[in-house]
Amino acid sequence: MKPPQAPGDLLLEVRDLVKHYPTQAGWFGGVGAKVHAVDGVSFSIAGGETLGLVGESGCGKSTTGKLILRLQEPTAGSILWRGRDISRLSQAEMRPVRRELQAVFQDPYSSLNPRIRAVDIVAEPLRNFEDMSSATAGDRMAQLFERVGLRADQMVKYPFEFSGGQRQRLGIARALSVQPKLIVCDEPVSALDVSVQAQVINLLMDLQQEMHLSYLFVAHDLAVVEHISHRVAVMYLGKIVEIASKQAIFTRPQHPYTEALLEAVPVPNPQVRKKRRVLTGDVPSPINPPPGCRFHTRCPYVEERCRREEPPLQQVSAGQWVACHLRQPVQQPATARATA
Ligand code: SF4
Repeated sequence: MKPPQAPGDLLLEVRDLVKHYPTQAGWFGGVGAKVHAVDGVSFSIAGGETLGLVGESGCGKSTTGKLILRLQEPTAGSILWRGRDISRLSQAEMRPVRRELQAVFQDPYSSLNPRIRAVDIVAEPLRNFEDMSSATAGDRMAQLFERVGLRADQMVKYPFEFSGGQRQRLGIARALSVQPKLIVCDEPVSALDVSVQAQVINLLMDLQQEMHLSYLFVAHDLAVVEHISHRVAVMYLGKIVEIASKQAIFTRPQHPYTEALLEAVPVPNPQVRKKRRVLTGDVPSPINPPPGCRFHTRCPYVEERCRREEPPLQQVSAGQWVACHLRQPVQQPATARATA
């Protein structure tokens, strides 16, 4: 399927991406089943754009990020990086791409080696790609430390000597050291205090402006996603159910699951009593996802058809794509249909 298009020059295009994990044999059998972690996901990201990827835990959003980074091998589908399919490249062929595609992970402490000084942690990706003298590398590191809000004299410290927010700044500096084009940010602020979250998010936004960076921003906190994203994709049980501009998602969501996620966001004003439609039931098992629409076991608008037929992701208005039988796709002009 052609993915919903990002506005602007495309950096990344993901088409029908699939990741299934075989289950382990247990005492009572169980071999042959598959975990449907990611099940036909398509989207694109333009230069300088942030795409937020949201959904409940276990929906496949972090796995999608790892597949794009090629930290895991996709079962099927393609990942086009600047027009070239990188989904089956060998590790050696991936090397130049890795420089352009970096990551910032959730837990800044466990993702930094505690026995290595901060400067060496940040310089490690750079050393993999460039030969440079210690003096030049030292100057580059000092600039980078200052750019992410750390002091040059902190370069000789170890990770345990930094606060959580400072450690995440180290993670960002490490990703930036090789001047990437896209950073996969996997829950980068969810382990931080709220006041520190805002500082790190603002830093990411400033860096984006300065360096024309793109982000795939994986998170479950909708307030954070609303602040940083240009467009937002909503995932449920391995599939994208809605993708649209931030304004469309937050002011006129079209998928019942997106509506439910937004209604669950707390309002920070005790005077405002929000009428909530709380989602009932758990997310079904990704080993045996429900037939038809995967959301039908929890959807307040479910119809008979939803239990049988899977709704395709269709464009319902300019830039807004939804997978729900209740929504009508925009009509293509006759000429476009004839040439499609
Ligand atoms: Fe609900 Fe049916 Fe739409 Fe699925 S297709 S979200 S079950 S109304």
